[in-house]
Amino acid sequence: MADGERPIVIVGASLGGAKAAEALREAGHRGGIVLLGEEHERPYERPPLSKGYLLGKDSREKIYVHPPQWYADHDVTLRLGTAVAAIDPASRTVTLADNGRLAYDKLLLTTGSVPRRLPVPGADQEGVLYLRRAEDSDRIKAALRPGARIAVIGAGWIGLEVAAAARTAGAEVTVLESLELPLLRVLGREVAQVFADLHRDHGVDLRFGVQVTELSGADGTVSGVRLGDGSEVAADAVVVGIGVSPATGLAEAAGLEVDNGIKTDQHLRTSAPDVYAAGDVANAYHPLFGRHIRVEHWANALNQPQTAARAMLGQPDAAYDRVPYFFTDQYDLGMEYVGYVEPGGYDQVVFRGDPASREFIAFWLAGGRVLAGMNVNVWDVTDPIRELIISARVVDADRLTNPNVPLGDV
Ligand code: NAP
Repeated sequence: MADGERPIVIVGASLGGAKAAEALREAGHRGGIVLLGEEHERPYERPPLSKGYLLGKDSREKIYVHPPQWYADHDVTLRLGTAVAAIDPASRTVTLADNGRLAYDKLLLTTGSVPRRLPVPGADQEGVLYLRRAEDSDRIKAALRPGARIAVIGAGWIGLEVAAAARTAGAEVTVLESLELPLLRVLGREVAQVFADLHRDHGVDLRFGVQVTELSGADGTVSGVRLGDGSEVAADAVVVGIGVSPATGLAEAAGLEVDNGIKTDQHLRTSAPDVYAAGDVANAYHPLFGRHIRVEHWANALNQPQTAARAMLGQPDAAYDRVPYFFTDQYDLGMEYVGYVEPGGYDQVVFRGDPASREFIAFWLAGGRVLAGMNVNVWDVTDPIRELIISARVVDADRLTNPNVPLGDV
């Protein structure tokens, strides 16, 4: 087969895969595009699964990246329910789980990540729920009934957003976390406390510094969570949100360089010729930070594919250098975060506004430079915060925290 006839194959039909197909067409690619997805759902966005969709506010239709007709209209061959068994960069082929083979011209891996499983006895019982896919969100939603006892293991983003949805639905919620505060590694103590206070104020029973040793149950159905001190938290359902691992199996087996995700350069090129990676699974070199970072946020899956698409078409004009961004909505708290801070990688946190009021901006600094900013119930400030981060200039903390000084003038 002549190279021109080989399609660009995208493995992973989620937000990243769908956005890559879109970006390829927008960049003028006329050849074939095959988008392979293991799930039976067409590409959808995940943020609503733990927010609006879980709360019952957003309809199912709202979660999808494109309407069904979009794929045919853009001549994108969407093959759902199609697992990939192997990739072979030498012959530029993909082997499907049903033994079918597909030759590619370029290959993009947007395989995402998989939830970490809780490694304790009893974790495979009915009623132990994870949140990754739309069907998981449906299962959790069904469990969030008024008066139901919901135990949430892990006070990360999934844990806290599910806790908020569960309280909003009238369930009794206990959150179990091994560290002393929620989101401690991402936010640090100063801001993590805001989220602890938020959930306590909404009636969540937060238990920190606890070890989950076993999930108890009867007849294969979970009934509680046993802790290291021997106590037990009764539960009608247990939601586990203890982080994710990048889905690197195919890449590893194919001999690609993998280290905390698939290693790529700033154009999302992997170590194998004609193979690219984007989204959660990519540990990409980031020019702004001068090293590789792997970002699990929605915005990364939304934006990285544009860079990968241009690189696949031989137009690697721009490196992927966007500052990471994410957001959350919990109860009446809406928040946006822009920046990137390694755990313990800052030396100061300052606030513009009072964190106790839950209307403020927090800034993480190192050596007087802004690494990240989080606006809580304050809007339209992401651009100036991003500018402060990119400029990497030493700022005057008094001006930064003074609400009368426009952020652009700090
Ligand atoms: P996460 O944000 O990484 O949080 C996992 C939490 O569980 C951490 O606090 C972790 O503590 C804790 N943990 C780990 N093992 C535990 C155990 N055995 N018992 C109790 N706690 C334990 O991951 P996630 O909440 O599962 O979310 C999955 C992915 O989806 C993440 O990439 C997340 O960023 C993304 N997501 C993002 C949003 C958003 O941006 N709004 C919303 C939902 C999901 P350690 O730090 O000690 O491991």
